[in-house]
Amino acid sequence: MSDIFQKYGLTRVINTRGPATVLGASTVPDEIREEVSQILGSSVEMWELQRCASQWISELTGAPAGCVTGCTSAGIAVCCAAALTGTNPAKIKSLPNLKQGPRKIVIQKGQVTGAGDAPVYQVVQMTGAQYEEIGEALDCATFHLEDALDENTAAALYVMEDTFAPNLLSIEQFVEICHAKGVPVIVDAAYLTDFKKLWNLKVDLAIYSVQKWLSGPTAGIIAGREDLVTACYMQEMGVGRPMKCGKEGVMGCIAAIKRWLSLDWQAIHHRQMHLADLIIKPLEKVNGLTLYTERSDYSPAVRVRMKVDPAVCSQDAYQINTAIGKGNPVIKTDDYFVNVGDIIFDLSYVDEDDARSIANAVLNCISDAGEEARTVKPTHQTRQDLLYNTMRLWLRGNPREVE
Ligand SMILES: *Cc1c(COP(=O)(O)O)cnc(C)c1O
Repeated sequence: MSDIFQKYGLTRVINTRGPATVLGASTVPDEIREEVSQILGSSVEMWELQRCASQWISELTGAPAGCVTGCTSAGIAVCCAAALTGTNPAKIKSLPNLKQGPRKIVIQKGQVTGAGDAPVYQVVQMTGAQYEEIGEALDCATFHLEDALDENTAAALYVMEDTFAPNLLSIEQFVEICHAKGVPVIVDAAYLTDFKKLWNLKVDLAIYSVQKWLSGPTAGIIAGREDLVTACYMQEMGVGRPMKCGKEGVMGCIAAIKRWLSLDWQAIHHRQMHLADLIIKPLEKVNGLTLYTERSDYSPAVRVRMKVDPAVCSQDAYQINTAIGKGNPVIKTDDYFVNVGDIIFDLSYVDEDDARSIANAVLNCISDAGEEARTVKPTHQTRQDLLYNTMRLWLRGNPREVE
């Protein structure tokens, strides 16, 4: 592995962020890569490979059918397109200019996320759907949804995440209200690992990531009703064409599901708790740092949360995150909460040496800071400003130097 990094002058990454798309997502285990490699050296009829994937997706999710698309956000667009066209080839060819039939797709305003980093309103509207947000940033009531579902509504979109406001509609309420009005429900479940939950709730189309927790190559799973999944695959005759998945992604999806179904979670948990110790023990003695492990419904990994008290510690969380993100290897963390003082280390792709390097890098960064650092803290950029800088500078500047 280090060979290819040397050969092409790439910087090694210690990934404690987890399967983020910007870090090339998951590290793909040998058993998956072997099957991907085999199919890459062969020709195959794609419908047959997709049918095989459908059977494995059924095994994973309980849904009667499934297909594989380019990634999760591709899956959202493809599902929206399928809700507009069904299996009608003339309609498929007409998008994004649908001449007749329902074309409205509704979503709770409080769930308008970046589907990855492309906002979900963009992903929905590229199909030609008429996009409608319901409720308010922090609230959505049953009456908002009931009122929005009319004869022009093609589908309703729901996003499964754990960072939303507490007073939005639950997935159970959402499905019940939509189905009472005959409106299909599409769910973005990129990070969800309870793969049976959504079909049990009769969700019509659910989208899961292959390159996140399943540890496959970049691809998206669509699972749901057979008629709608057929319509999804048929989008490759239309707007789904630029979002299709090649044989490597479809085979990678199959191999990833097969592996997932045989994982020993107890052993994985045990190993990751040991790694957590290697990070927590040396750092918990430092004044101003508080560390503990945590679990989430949207991650099967052990995660270490490090809270940094900027009044006590010479560096705040943002400064520590920036400093360790510039070394060699670079250490990438889950820094979603860094501006409120928390850094999260996800232990999915970390070994013992990595864990020790992380603890050392944090210690060095704190002890290197001068005394004046304790009182004067710089102002920090927001997550999307940083992303903008990376995208802006990638070809010529050094995005790692931007603070
Ligand atoms: C990661 C993610 C996406 C985007 O996934 P891609 O495969 O990068 O397109 C969409 N929605 C949610 C909730 C995600 O977590």
